Amino acid sequence: PRIVSAAFVGASTDASTLPAPTLAEVAFAGRSNVGKSSLLNAMMQRKSLARTSRTPGCTRQVNIFEVGWTDGLRVHLVDLPGYGYAKRSRSEKISWGPLIESYLATRQVLRAVTLLIDARRGAEDDDLALIEFLESLENPPQIFLAATKIDKFSRAQQKPAVEKVKRQFRGPVIGFSSVTGDGRDSLWQRLRAVVQN
Ligand code: GDP
Repeated sequence: PRIVSAAFVGASTDASTLPAPTLAEVAFAGRSNVGKSSLLNAMMQRKSLARTSRTPGCTRQVNIFEVGWTDGLRVHLVDLPGYGYAKRSRSEKISWGPLIESYLATRQVLRAVTLLIDARRGAEDDDLALIEFLESLENPPQIFLAATKIDKFSRAQQKPAVEKVKRQFRGPVIGFSSVTGDGRDSLWQRLRAVVQN
């Protein structure tokens, strides 16, 4: 099936005032600058529906998009604020904060989370803490890792780079490039499967 529609639904800085949970949701999380807006645009086949960040760390809100397919399937894509950029005290272990946490913990229609990891950096402490948090939820969503910007590696180095991220997480890891489109079909296939089940 092909995508026939993609549109912005709404945004909020507060998980309790988000657009109504009328569709199954798949959320996207990751450190600022990991390539999340670019990945969302690539997934939706739209050049700039999800704004690529001009001022990293500034968009502290949740954005929701709706995607529709030729087979009638519709899903909400949820763009969570990037984390790890704002200066926090050292004692503070996590940087992803209350908005992300309350969305993930309370949204009943949440089915899957794609966690974006820069393939060159691998999963960092914040990312691993987020995985742990997700796995601790009462109804944990499916977790997928997208190893982003794999076009920065030569073809021969891409597989080893993805393998390295795979050693950090026991679930599915998908190499992704918003430049070449690599990983797009594979990620959609998995997300659609979760939503359809
Ligand atoms: P966000 O802050 O996570 O939303 O990241 P953006 O999508 O705004 O991307 C941050 C920077 O990385 C921008 O300069 C993008 O052009 C670049 N970028 C994003 N995705 C890719 C990718 O797949 N390949 C390459 N080479 N650069 C990328």
